[in-house]
Amino acid sequence: MTEKNITAKIRVYAYNELNEEQKILVDRAKEATKGSYTPYSHFNVGAAIRLENGIIVTGANQENASFPAGTCAERSACFYAGAQYPGVAFSAIAITAFHEGDFVESPCAPCGVCRQSLLEYEAQSGKPVEVLLAGRDTVYVLDSLRSLLPLAFTEF
Ligand SMILES: [Zn+2]
Repeated sequence: MTEKNITAKIRVYAYNELNEEQKILVDRAKEATKGSYTPYSHFNVGAAIRLENGIIVTGANQENASFPAGTCAERSACFYAGAQYPGVAFSAIAITAFHEGDFVESPCAPCGVCRQSLLEYEAQSGKPVEVLLAGRDTVYVLDSLRSLLPLAFTEF
């Protein structure tokens, strides 16, 4: 028997400690929550992806009366990026959520399906994607999407 440890380094910042590029991406994710369609959960998630070419694309969660038909903000953003800018690597992604009149206090992390979806774009490019998980004042910063999904479905 052998034992393996899986670790992820998360750096915890106050919003004001972020660099300007990081602040812009978090701000775009916050702005993107306005595009959410959430008549059922009222939990508005926004995602902003900075592409290697400098363009920022955003996405917001879209719910549906047929619940499985809805999609998350992160996949909304990454599929849009993939469709509009095929082959362009992602540099960073910021994610946040707005609920009951304010941004959530705890940093917002993507669901498992979104982690798998995002990871494939990072794997295709071969370049790590910085991850910014933003709460109201606190932002978790991770060096790559891979650190969000150890033992991924496909071992890239
Ligand atoms: Zn998701």
